[in-house]
Amino acid sequence: QADRAMTMAKRQGRNHLCFYNRTLEHHQRVDVHLRNQFQQAIDQERLQLFYQPIVHLASGNIVGVEALMRWQLNDGSFIAPDKFIPMAEATGQIIPASQWAFSRACEDLQRMREKHPDLRVAVNLSALQFHRANFFDSILDTVASYGLSNNSIELELTETILMDDSKHAVALIEKFRDAGFTMAIDDFGTGFSSLSYLKQLPVSKLKIDRAFIQEVCQKSSDEAIVRGILAMARQLDIAVVAEGIETAEQAVRLTELGCEFGQGYFFAKPKPLDELLDDLT
Ligand code: C2E
Ligand code: MG
Ligand code: MG
Ligand code: MG
Repeated sequence: QADRAMTMAKRQGRNHLCFYNRTLEHHQRVDVHLRNQFQQAIDQERLQLFYQPIVHLASGNIVGVEALMRWQLNDGSFIAPDKFIPMAEATGQIIPASQWAFSRACEDLQRMREKHPDLRVAVNLSALQFHRANFFDSILDTVASYGLSNNSIELELTETILMDDSKHAVALIEKFRDAGFTMAIDDFGTGFSSLSYLKQLPVSKLKIDRAFIQEVCQKSSDEAIVRGILAMARQLDIAVVAEGIETAEQAVRLTELGCEFGQGYFFAKPKPLDELLDDLT
């Protein structure tokens, strides 16, 4: 059963790759300017990381932060990650950008830990980065070079990572987990995550996509999905974070449903390190 889910994931993955190639051509035709500007931002180290708190719902305590990349143009405007991340994945620029981001996240975590000693940082990984040779070693080296322990880092994976080469991905996730990292599935419920599929994965955390959280208090179908995910996660001993909590009502409801962790504008928006440090006092 699980094998079939994986095969399905792989087959779908090929379709995604075809689509990707088309996107690449599209970007090469239309967005050369954007690509060049992004390259300059990488070269001149003008990318930024913002941090959004992840809280323990029952207590309201901050347990971690998610690092989110920001790209600001010279005129002060921001380009949305949903625009530049897919482009950077298509051009390969996501590799140097991610290497910079991971080092910066480690460096910033050192400073956060002066105020909040057991805080953890969650970092988003892209498929291209994950499947590169030496990825494991480079992550380990970076974490060690900042004097951090592996268990202070959470790695957020999306399903595209599993589609490209699921055997390789599962083995690598296991390797990271055994080295002490928290491995999390991001945007859970979108794409085609199935029960058997999740059972195969050596992950210890999942993040419910905000699509199911938005109307969890209004739509009984969304509430049912969230309940189902929570029940399944409990069985598999997987911790759950609800993404995109925007209201007190949602926070209360999710706590009642037994969701342990939450993240969203209701608690805090993503913000620069300095502002986050003020919050940690
Ligand atoms: P994600 O990893 O699922 O990150 C959560 C997104 O939800 C972030 O969008 C965050 O700002 C937004 N968000 C948080 N709380 C709320 C809320 O209450 N309401 C609403 N409407 N949105 C909320 P952002 O920062 O625009 O990033 C979008 C996506 O770009 C991320 O989704 C992630 O997939 C990708 N991304 C961001 N930074 C990186 C990075 O450094 N590397 C890679 N590979 N991907 C990244
Ligand atoms: Mg994420
Ligand atoms: Mg997400
Ligand atoms: Mg997302």
